[in-house]
Amino acid sequence: MGSLPIETFQPLDPDVLVKESRAVVDFIANYYRDIERYPVRSQVEPEYLSKRLPDQAPIFPQPIQTILDDIHDDIFPGLTHWQSPNFYAYFQANASTAGFLGEMLCSGLNVVGFNWIASPAATELESIVMDWMGKMLKLPSSFLFSGGQGGGGVLHGSTCEAVVCTLAAARDSALTKMGGDGITKLVVYASDQTHSTVQKASKLIGIPPSNFRAIPTSAASDYALTPDSVRSSMEADIAKGLVPLYLCATIGTTAVGAVDPLLELGKVANEYGVWYHIDAAYAGSSGICPEFRHYFDGVELADSFSLNPHKWFLTNMDCCCLWVKSPSSLVDALCSNPEYLRNKASDAKTVVDYKDWQIALSRRFRAMKLWVVIRRYGMANLMEHIRSDVAMAEHFERLVAMDRRFEVVVPRKFALVCFRLKPRFQGDDPSELNRRLLEAVNSSGQAFMTHAVVARMFVVRFAIGATLTEMRHVEATWKLIQAKADGLLLNGSCDKISSSNGLFSL
Ligand code: PLP
Repeated sequence: MGSLPIETFQPLDPDVLVKESRAVVDFIANYYRDIERYPVRSQVEPEYLSKRLPDQAPIFPQPIQTILDDIHDDIFPGLTHWQSPNFYAYFQANASTAGFLGEMLCSGLNVVGFNWIASPAATELESIVMDWMGKMLKLPSSFLFSGGQGGGGVLHGSTCEAVVCTLAAARDSALTKMGGDGITKLVVYASDQTHSTVQKASKLIGIPPSNFRAIPTSAASDYALTPDSVRSSMEADIAKGLVPLYLCATIGTTAVGAVDPLLELGKVANEYGVWYHIDAAYAGSSGICPEFRHYFDGVELADSFSLNPHKWFLTNMDCCCLWVKSPSSLVDALCSNPEYLRNKASDAKTVVDYKDWQIALSRRFRAMKLWVVIRRYGMANLMEHIRSDVAMAEHFERLVAMDRRFEVVVPRKFALVCFRLKPRFQGDDPSELNRRLLEAVNSSGQAFMTHAVVARMFVVRFAIGATLTEMRHVEATWKLIQAKADGLLLNGSCDKISSSNGLFSL
């Protein structure tokens, strides 16, 4: 229960802050030094933690060192180590020193810039950083504050929030034209590869679930959405008296990294007068490299565009950039104007009040973090970071292609390789085989990958992007995968490499 307090209670004493934050920084630095010693995917059973922690909060204070020891002993076993160099699952949440420092500054200053006067620098830095990012990505000037056409950007915590907000803007614009009770007629279009966040967001803003179209894709288009399929879906809905509202295209889908043809889809969206959003949550960061910028062709036709620097831009969680051509439609849908927030600058409408560009009122100073990352690394290093991940993925793809027992299922996009072990005999269940292969690798603790199912095919996803990953990790993981496959194909077991090799003795 801790010990009796002997000092006065000063929760923001600068000297204690220095001492204890040094202890925390040392702890985190040691964590990164030792990270390869932990099993990448946590190996605990559900509810392991309640067996280790007391079921009551302490009454008296406890020393930071005791808390850090408990994190090491009790929390670490239940962590899946996202910063491990052998983390290849989902899409990464890449951390960096600059991202961490930016997060410290954001947290240390702890200002809440919901409107301009609540912290003018927070608002103004956000607008400047969003324009910097937009220029790095060569977004059309219609998305930038400096473009002078009314556009601009905002930082949210997640793509889900960005999609909810843009959908709300689209919905309200449409309902203003149609009349208030038309919501049951509005239809949202995406592909069967679009992130589930869009379906969730459309439900959240009141679109009937039956009015969400997950248009099928196939291997023929590398799982990209085709303009013809969107057009026919919209035509069929219009014939039923429904009203197309919103189309979401993706650069780098979650399952296989597919890229939808932005230009052609944009033409369809513009022709039918729907709000056109582009979700580039994962792969958007690659747009700063000229060789990937062609994937963005057609972005000029979009109404809104979002990407997550917390995935592939060395920015610690959380950070999602959203640009809109017409922020006034966002503001119309999301603004609130209570008396207690009124002030001269807002009343004069000469400033951005970001509370009206998002769901919540309160907001973090995320711009500080992104600004520190961009300044500390510069475009040159940020491009190098993307390129080296892609080079490692290319190498991994070649290794897979050289082993005839395996196949690359979808041509690699960005730093994501989707592959599978081919069935040996007719009648072998390839999904079961690959499920077992994946589990064998993940339960070894030496690497963590996840899967996707496309065209009813179970594929293993190998997503490179953890900041600490080097070529040697990729090569060692490939050897691990091959050894597990040997075990599966020769003995029907995966025991060739055992997890009891003393690696995880911390
Ligand atoms: N869109 C894509 C393409 C994604 O890959 C993801 C997550 O991986 C998301 C959206 C969801 O992002 P968030 O968690 O920021 O809502």
